[in-house]
Amino acid sequence: MNLVRQANTTTWLSPHTGQVWELVIGLEVHCQLATRSKLFCGCAVEFGAAPNTRVCAVCSAQPGSLPVLNGEALRLAVRAGLALGCSIAARTHFDRKHYFYCDLPKGYQISQATRPFCTGGGVRLRSGKLVRLQRIHLEEDAGKAIHDRGPWTLVDLNRAGVPLIESVTEADLSAPEEAVEYLTALKEMLQHAGVSACDMEKGELRCDVNVSVRKPGAGYGTKVEIKNLNSFRFVAAAIEYELQRQVAALESGDPAQRLVQETRLWDTEQGVTRSMRTKEGAADYRYMPEPDLPELQLPASFVERERSMLGEPPAERRARWQQQWHLAAKDAEALTHTRELADWFEAAVRAGAPPKECASFLLNEVLTAQPDSLSLLLPRQVAALVTMVAAGEVSHASARSVLRVTLAEGTEPEVVVQQQGLRMVLDTRQIEAWCRQALVGREAIIADVKAGKVAAVNALLGPALKLAAGKANAAVVRETLLRLIAES
Ligand SMILES: [Zn+2]
Repeated sequence: MNLVRQANTTTWLSPHTGQVWELVIGLEVHCQLATRSKLFCGCAVEFGAAPNTRVCAVCSAQPGSLPVLNGEALRLAVRAGLALGCSIAARTHFDRKHYFYCDLPKGYQISQATRPFCTGGGVRLRSGKLVRLQRIHLEEDAGKAIHDRGPWTLVDLNRAGVPLIESVTEADLSAPEEAVEYLTALKEMLQHAGVSACDMEKGELRCDVNVSVRKPGAGYGTKVEIKNLNSFRFVAAAIEYELQRQVAALESGDPAQRLVQETRLWDTEQGVTRSMRTKEGAADYRYMPEPDLPELQLPASFVERERSMLGEPPAERRARWQQQWHLAAKDAEALTHTRELADWFEAAVRAGAPPKECASFLLNEVLTAQPDSLSLLLPRQVAALVTMVAAGEVSHASARSVLRVTLAEGTEPEVVVQQQGLRMVLDTRQIEAWCRQALVGREAIIADVKAGKVAAVNALLGPALKLAAGKANAAVVRETLLRLIAES
């Protein structure tokens, strides 16, 4: 089956039957909160620690142990809701979600069913479409079962009890690229709000995709859930695969291919989804209010404090930079890659750096110099250097070597320029003197230039700059040479 995307639409044409199909997609994203400790105990959250070394009586479910809520996780969950425009519940509570699995020693996960922290809100796509959020709730992660060690299944509980938020969209998405755009924006907003590092390689952002197909205008079709995708590329590929598979099944009329509501897994090697289990309904989880944790009341002052921590949303920040400072779109995009980088850039501009030059210097020189270069520099140091370059006082080549010294030794750029004598000569008389010297004995070139072959002057540029020992601006020297020839 090879469906054909209809130009500029989110519908697909079946070449065999001539029928038109559309996708209905909803996303559930689990995001690990940037806390130092777990959600209901003091164990450290630490990626890559030796198995079962970050475990206590609470997160390994010893009888009689009691959960205590991590205040930082609560604050970050509320902040996530605010960043995404949700309403924050004034009163809320936790629920037990029961299921049995070897990585869940309690036999239930502490989550939220009926009263999540956040409801409503959403993310606006570039097309103007709003992807509405149903809810965001706070819950604990399960442990990790490792199945590929010979005959054994090993269990690591380091991850059990790590705080997660789960954000659930309405079924508002209708194409693979819309899903990717939503996820990219979501990740960026959560990172910039300081809610999560969203490092997908560490499993800090995991995505479940609900996908079904239907004919335009028809009711919802049978929905399939694809679990635990840890890359946006896989999300797009899995949706694309399900579109083809589901339409083929529906058009075949074959009872053996009948679609069922189920959970499927994405096989990254084969590029296919595989049935994992038929999906539990909410009733199977036997949700009940968590009796060991009190109902939570969130005072307005608490919520407002988190609102003040949000910072400017990255998309608005980019738009402001482009408008106020005339930054190129791709530079603004690159500089908002993380909140830290965006804040750093703004601090350098506040310290007096011309914005456009500063953006280009940061992206092309500083960030390519060495991976941790930003942590070794102060914004005002880059501001000082960029300002000298923009004023023509230091050449680009010199700025690069000043940067190397400042990175290695922490010496202030002005001091390096002074010590190494890198300040450009702006004295016109001195520049003229070098140019006159370069003109000596070059009558043929002078004649060529006078005859209108202006480019011939370039042959004198090298010698003149050499006399200036790199301390003269090439454009100024060229201009001076042309002027002296014209006057001669
Ligand atoms: Zn613990």
